[in-house]
Amino acid sequence: MARVIIAGAGPTGATLALLLARRGIPVTLIEAARDFQRQFRGEGLMPSGLDALHQMGLDSLLETIPHHPLSAWEFWLNDRRLFRADEPLGANRPCTLVSQPPLLSALVQVAQAKPGFEWIFGTAAKDLLWRNDRVAGVLLANGRTLEADLVIGADGRASAMRQQGALALETQPKSIDVLWFKLPAPASYETDNRFCTVVKGGRVFSLFHGAEAGKMHLAWAIDPEAPTEPKDWATTFAALVPPDLVNHFRTVKDEITPPLRLSVVVGRCDRWHRPGLLLLGDAAHPMSPVRAQGINLALRDVIVAANHLVPVLRAAQDGAPDPTAIDQALGRIQAEREPEIIEAQRLQAHEASRGELLRRFGLLRQGLSICSPMVGPLVEQVWTQQQKPLREGITPVQLEV
Ligand SMILES: Cc1cc2nc3c(=O)[nH]c(=O)nc-3n(C[C@H](O)[C@H](O)[C@H](O)COP(=O)(O)OP(=O)(O)OC[C@H]3O[C@@H](n4cnc5c(N)ncnc54)[C@H](O)[C@@H]3O)c2cc1C
Repeated sequence: MARVIIAGAGPTGATLALLLARRGIPVTLIEAARDFQRQFRGEGLMPSGLDALHQMGLDSLLETIPHHPLSAWEFWLNDRRLFRADEPLGANRPCTLVSQPPLLSALVQVAQAKPGFEWIFGTAAKDLLWRNDRVAGVLLANGRTLEADLVIGADGRASAMRQQGALALETQPKSIDVLWFKLPAPASYETDNRFCTVVKGGRVFSLFHGAEAGKMHLAWAIDPEAPTEPKDWATTFAALVPPDLVNHFRTVKDEITPPLRLSVVVGRCDRWHRPGLLLLGDAAHPMSPVRAQGINLALRDVIVAANHLVPVLRAAQDGAPDPTAIDQALGRIQAEREPEIIEAQRLQAHEASRGELLRRFGLLRQGLSICSPMVGPLVEQVWTQQQKPLREGITPVQLEV
């Protein structure tokens, strides 16, 4: 029977491993980290990502994981609210913050109950093994070699599998880094969790209640070239946040965590595969954090990959795997997923450019802010309409196997 190796147990690797293991396909999942408590893992799941988990039969598992739905999106210019758009914005599920570490460990735990599933953690997939110009397995950092009929690089945006497979990543020019802060959440956000984007004083940042109970997150956009200067962050925030949060920021000033600097990489591989090797998720197309797309698109990659791979891997159940059939499926996976990725990255860039326009042009910001009671409802209507593809997906994705 055909064996699959998946390098990386982020959202892409962990869900694909589970789907394959549930369908009786032998799979080895390799994770470099010892546990899932990486300093930062995104939490925002859009209706499209929640639908992907639903299609994978993971609704009940999701219920056991700390999560917090968003109730609305708010945009603040200077000290006035331009508009508030209530979730679920016409979709059948609200955008929801889901804690990734417990989700990933639960996925691996379920997969571990399946025969044929192997879990290797605490050592990286370092290099690829080749046989007759085809990838035939991986070399682990601990020196162990593992053979497989197909290797999947789900090892994130700095993918070693991509580098070893000489699959080039075309990156967009870097436009922002993000400083990530956590602080106690105000009680009002427990029940009314709005994702607030604030543009004021040449700054753009976002605030929301995360998946973890009682924790507010603040994402502060900075120039990638700018150093992370030590700052009196509490005073800076108190001068910029919406008026109803000023006292809260003063009260919790000593409990704001030091910033975690996250570098944002956006790009796409022209080619996602070589014979015996396929890249998925951030390894093939690292996404911008704008409108929380990365996990959602990764989950949709997984469904399409399973649709194409399960039949060819199953066909090998009774005989020798057919490398040609496997490699042809890899091309079909990229062809089916690429249009959605290209369009999502275009829409993310468009959304970011509007924020940048407001950040740079004080007069425009001031004008819109003053006129917000009049123009706000119209802007809300247009914005809500434009969110649909980034929330619900662009191309149809349906699990068929
Ligand atoms: C600031 C910021 C905020 C974001 N917020 C969101 C959000 O709210 N919602 C959203 O949908 N997306 C968000 N994203 C994007 C999202 O985090 C990624 O798109 C998503 O995590 C991709 O999943 P993945 O499984 O492909 O890769 P990853 O999540 O990066 O997982 C890769 C895994 O592979 C492991 N690994 C790495 N190298 C190796 C190796 N050589 N061998 C074995 N294992 C290896 C890593 O330890 C990791 O566990 C955000 C991104 C940024 C930068």
